[in-house]
Amino acid sequence: MNKRKLSLVSMLLTTLGILLLISNTNTVKAESINDYIINNKVQPAAIQNREGTFGVWSGYENGVGKPEGVVIHETAMDNTDAETLVASFNNIWKQQSVYVHAFVDDKEIINIHNTDYIVWGAGATANSKFIQVELCRVPSGDYDKFTKSIVNQAYYAASKLLQYNLPDTPGVTVMSHHQTSLKWKQTDHVDPDTYFPTWGYSMDQMNDLISYFYNNLKNTGYAYGTNETGNSNGVDDKAVIKTKNTNGNFAPLVAFNDDGSVTNINNRGLGNDTFWQTDQTRDLNGVTYHRVATNEWVDSQYIVG
Ligand SMILES: [Zn+2]
Repeated sequence: MNKRKLSLVSMLLTTLGILLLISNTNTVKAESINDYIINNKVQPAAIQNREGTFGVWSGYENGVGKPEGVVIHETAMDNTDAETLVASFNNIWKQQSVYVHAFVDDKEIINIHNTDYIVWGAGATANSKFIQVELCRVPSGDYDKFTKSIVNQAYYAASKLLQYNLPDTPGVTVMSHHQTSLKWKQTDHVDPDTYFPTWGYSMDQMNDLISYFYNNLKNTGYAYGTNETGNSNGVDDKAVIKTKNTNGNFAPLVAFNDDGSVTNINNRGLGNDTFWQTDQTRDLNGVTYHRVATNEWVDSQYIVG
């Protein structure tokens, strides 16, 4: 082997090495997203219940309050967040005959139609069976935002399965829109199976994450199986509460004013038997309030379990 051949070989080996390194990095990334989330206890957002404009109040095929599972969607719209899509869907559902139960992004989980009733997110059969949640896209390459957004989607799905006392069975009680298309052939959408791979992620990994939250919430009431947040100071212990108002459909919310008094929030409440993350409590006149959003608090008399 002469010098020239040797340098060619070493060039080839170097190139091969770099290629291996690149493919390795991608593999590591793909395998470690759920590990990263669990190791860092990436916290889900509180589920916000903001009834939207969808005026259809039909039960599922098994009846009102009897969904059979959750469909995982992604919006296929780059850089469009949950607030934007909630506003848009509240305007266009009549013209476009489309609506879903919830949108999630890296910041929020916004539930816009009572999950006791159907929406129009997939084909007729899937609509008659499933709760449907859309994942909003985050800027490409921003893994911090991506992990937060999938935590929110997985947490929402797990919470809904538990709310309706459903088992967590991937492919049966949790389906991708793509899986519903293949099974019932009533739509041709393949989401989230084109978006997830751009992050080295997959529906199987989403199912793993949903199962992780489902089991922890079921067994301990906490998404990560403990009330520690992963913050070393341990100050803002986060917990999950379940709400129920025996005299109505929603547990009312209040906002704290600057002077320490509270004002009722009239345009939203928390559905009965729904799960909410809370991070603080505050007392006023012998009543303990639990915080579920920046300035939204629920009286402990509406918390059960
Ligand atoms: Zn879809």
